[in-house]
Amino acid sequence: MLRVESLKKSFDRFLAVDGATLEVAAGEVVAVIGPNGAGKTTLFNLITGQLAPTSGAIWFKEENIAGLPPHRVCRRGISRSYQVVNIFHRLTVFENVQVAVLSHRHKTFNILKPAKLMAVGETRQILDSVGLLDKAEMTSGALSHGDQKVLEIGIALGNRPELLILDEPTAGMSPEETAVTLRLMKRLSGELGLTILFCEHDMGMVFSIANQIMVMQHGGTIIQGPPDDVRNNQLVREAYLGGADECSV
Ligand code: ADP
Ligand code: MG
Repeated sequence: MLRVESLKKSFDRFLAVDGATLEVAAGEVVAVIGPNGAGKTTLFNLITGQLAPTSGAIWFKEENIAGLPPHRVCRRGISRSYQVVNIFHRLTVFENVQVAVLSHRHKTFNILKPAKLMAVGETRQILDSVGLLDKAEMTSGALSHGDQKVLEIGIALGNRPELLILDEPTAGMSPEETAVTLRLMKRLSGELGLTILFCEHDMGMVFSIANQIMVMQHGGTIIQGPPDDVRNNQLVREAYLGGADECSV
């Protein structure tokens, strides 16, 4: 579904992403791990069009999407959430997801029907699938941090993606909230058949859900493979023993 080839992104002369490669097959759950500053968020920004690469290719369903703007990447079937929560705080939980559903349908305005009556069924269905239906009428800014991160996943689902990209979906969450999010991701993958690409510092979570793990360091790819191959890889052990304290593989 997705193949990233020799991708590079420089900021002035600093290479934040330096020859990264990545493959994501349909239906897989793929984790990107690596110390802070390894280039994970920049890689996701390149895939989703927030940044244009300096060089390299990003093949999504046999089309090179490198350099396409975010809305066109989104139209092709890739949605994402952010490391730092990115929602409309003053809108209700329902409205946040509804806006995403309507914009995906190109129907943010209809002279015959007030916007708030549109896409109600689909919005409720998404809220139900992420477990936020009972909080639908709450103002989003009043949600707990964990629920706000889950709402962001709901907003991403409003675009009906084939590939869902999550940047540290459990960052700042309590262990209970992390467990809820892990179950949600398993459900999205198992029941809805979504392909998921995510990066995460919680190694327990990574190893309990990912079919494939890609390890980044200094903007490049050390290895990509099944969890057992990654766990036993000498280069990975050296990379982590060399510094990043939050990542014990
Ligand atoms: P990660 O998500 O793995 O922690 P990032 O992709 O956020 O890493 O950052 C990779 C490197 O690129 C870091 O050294 C960071 O400071 C740098 N970087 C990221 N974005 C920018 C930017 N817009 N301008 C300059 N440097 C950046
Ligand atoms: Mg990051």
